[in-house]
This record gives sequence, C-alpha cells and structure tokens, in this order.
Amino acid sequence: MTGTLPPLGRCQHCGQRRALSTHRSVRDGLPRLLCTSCYSDACLAEEAGHCVDFRQAFEHATDDELTGWLGSAL
Ligand SMILES: [Zn+2]
Repeated sequence: MTGTLPPLGRCQHCGQRRALSTHRSVRDGLPRLLCTSCYSDACLAEEAGHCVDFRQAFEHATDDELTGWLGSAL
C-alpha cells in the first residue's frame, strides 16, 4: 500500500517538510504543493473568495482584494 502515501516535501506555503498534496487554485489555475493543513486553509480561502497566498494576492487580486487580504492577514 505504499502507493497511497503522499510524497514528502517542502510545503510551498509554510515551508515545513511534510506530506504534500497538490492544490490547484481556481483563481490562477496554478498547482501548489501544500501540506494537509495549508491545503485545507487554501480551500477555505478560495471558498471564501480570498487568495491562497501572498504571491497570488499580489499578482491576481484587485487593489481592494489585496487590501482586504492584507487586512485579514495582519
Ligand atoms: Zn504547509
């Protein structure tokens, strides 16, 4: 059953070495390798209409969205 284990690697969000899943953003269509907790954070953020990380917010969000995102992250 080794095929069912997700690969270990460096999470692109928190930078920790963990088991990763590929999250594909609906906003920019880019895959991100995220650990389980960051994966669920990203899903919740997208469901709420937010960006999944700072780079995406910077490159794809409107100014209002960026301001809101920064406000909620601080
Ligand atoms: Zn993570």
